[in-house]
Amino acid sequence: MDFPTRYDVIVIGGGHAGTEAALAAARMGSKTLLLTHNTETIGVMSCNPAIGGIGKSHLVKEIDALGGAMATATDKAGIQFRVLNSRKGPAVRATRAQADRSLYRAAIREIVENQENLQVFQQACDDLIVEGDTVKGVVTQTGIKIFAETVVLTAGTFLGGVIHIGMDNHQGGRAGDPPSNALSKRLRELPFKVDRLKTGTPARIDSRSVDFSVMTEQPGDTPLPVMSYMGNVAQHPKQISCFITHTNEKTHDIIRSNLDRSPMYAGVIEGIGPRYCPSIEDKVMRFADKTSHQIFVEPEGLSTFELYPNGISTSLPFDVQMDFIRSMKGFENAHITRPGYAIEYDYFNPQDLRQTLETKLLNNLYFAGQINGTTGYEEAGAQGILAGSNAALRAQQKDPWMLRRDEAYIGVLVDDLSTLGTKEPYRMFTSRAEYRLILREDNADLRLTEKGREIGLVDDKRWRAFSEKREAIEIEKQRLKDTWVRPNTELGDEVSKLLERPMAREYSMMDILKRPDVRFKDLQNIHGANPLADDVAEQVEISAKYDGYIKRQQEEIDLLRRQENMPLPDDFTYDNISGLSNEVKQKLNDIRPATLAQASRISGVTPAAVSLLLIQLKRHT
Ligand code: FAD
Repeated sequence: MDFPTRYDVIVIGGGHAGTEAALAAARMGSKTLLLTHNTETIGVMSCNPAIGGIGKSHLVKEIDALGGAMATATDKAGIQFRVLNSRKGPAVRATRAQADRSLYRAAIREIVENQENLQVFQQACDDLIVEGDTVKGVVTQTGIKIFAETVVLTAGTFLGGVIHIGMDNHQGGRAGDPPSNALSKRLRELPFKVDRLKTGTPARIDSRSVDFSVMTEQPGDTPLPVMSYMGNVAQHPKQISCFITHTNEKTHDIIRSNLDRSPMYAGVIEGIGPRYCPSIEDKVMRFADKTSHQIFVEPEGLSTFELYPNGISTSLPFDVQMDFIRSMKGFENAHITRPGYAIEYDYFNPQDLRQTLETKLLNNLYFAGQINGTTGYEEAGAQGILAGSNAALRAQQKDPWMLRRDEAYIGVLVDDLSTLGTKEPYRMFTSRAEYRLILREDNADLRLTEKGREIGLVDDKRWRAFSEKREAIEIEKQRLKDTWVRPNTELGDEVSKLLERPMAREYSMMDILKRPDVRFKDLQNIHGANPLADDVAEQVEISAKYDGYIKRQQEEIDLLRRQENMPLPDDFTYDNISGLSNEVKQKLNDIRPATLAQASRISGVTPAAVSLLLIQLKRHT
């Protein structure tokens, strides 16, 4: 039968990519359906109940700056908040929150249910309706056809999912959930390039069986960080500590002597796992000289005794899991509540995606999340908001939007995936971004909220708060530039006390703030300004202290943008450019891009290759 409603956008999957995609499309006024296996699992965290961390919090704050749900849900569910790299520069500072798994899911569900223009339907999607090279809708498990202008697929680890615990394996989307086999089979019939990846999760442990007195306690930070630009500390539930223990030589011996029972080492699992989040058997083998690894013992929530031992994900059989866990300090009597497991699943080559996340092979079909070869809630949510908003724009017959590498980590993520592809689960790091000083977690709103507002992602309340903040920053910066401090005056004497050397001439307050020995709050006390909100003061201080570096980075970006528009003449030869791989030369010869920008978008043409083209172009002209 045909479903009674026709939609602008259908989103398949209620995970982290799917919820952000559906919410984005609906916020933009598109009639949206979230079609998912099970309404109860909307917003479920498949693995570690934690949001943020290095590189990842940048994505969360960007999603938030565009009106997304992840940061708000984290503020309502976070039970331990920390700022990582707090002593390093602002570019690499990152907020991380341990979340209460059920509170997080409830917060996402509440946001989804209260979103105007968004309906939910519980049913598996088994097929896509395709006419020519365009997707027209979906077919559910029970044969219901649902039509829409655009479809966003966010099926996570479910496509052809196989769960491994030791040599036992069975089909599943994640523990306790069915796989998506019919859809996986159908997608393999379409012209997509499909491969396999794997990821894993550790056993969970009952905290009542753990001796915390021999572990190191790790409380959250004070003052308490907040994840959302619209959030506040009062939203946070009760805060509790995490703990730290370690593996030891005995743990490693147990693992080593049972490797033949690990499906990864026995060759049963073919999919490649996340290099940056390796299983414990991988860590023991790859870092053979290390006799101990740190394990973070993290609570799963306030209303459960379950713990997540972060750092020992495994596919070893249950008896070996029990032995090696009990070999660790504090875990001697550990009761395992759920065994750890590995999962293998289908993913699609992201080089077949446009920068809007629409597939190049089928029009009006968008892919987001783990199916594009990424790992992590934050990476999934970031793709979801981009895919969902572009699906809505297409349905509204408007131009697409994209984010460049110098505008957002979302831009870096999508550009990396669509130009370079990935052979292993891709996770975000600050080191992946060339313009780290500009793409900070503290300024995601200043970079993106206006863009989000232009396409309808940002509501009036957020826009008002943002506009007030932006204005307050500008007013204060101007005031500091206009306030002059002269030696041998009352103000000059006050300011001199803050400086290592007395002032020899007059300076503006802004110049004084640029000095490493002066903090904004000291100056503020002296020149009697009105008290400013912490986030406003932070922006004023960062823009003063890093002014030179930020300007230099902005100049590089401007130069690159101008160069990107440089035409590549018809008689331009690629074959004698040393440093370009034969594969890249071949592609450039085949495609003959018109501009450097077009060349840079060809898969495999890296930023380094673009610089080589630029040097050659300068010689040519
Ligand atoms: P998911 O969160 O998996 O959501 C997919 C959704 O789609 C689900 O709601 C599902 O029910 C629905 N769905 C699927 N197929 C259909 C269909 N045919 N019809 C209707 N609905 C459908 N990330 C890390 O960063 N670190 C880790 O250590 C880590 N370990 C992991 C371990 C395991 C065992 C698993 C399963 C995941 C792990 N992850 C880890 C990954 C993290 O869970 C994912 O990156 C993230 O959940 C991906 O979000 P997503 O929205 O793409 O997919």
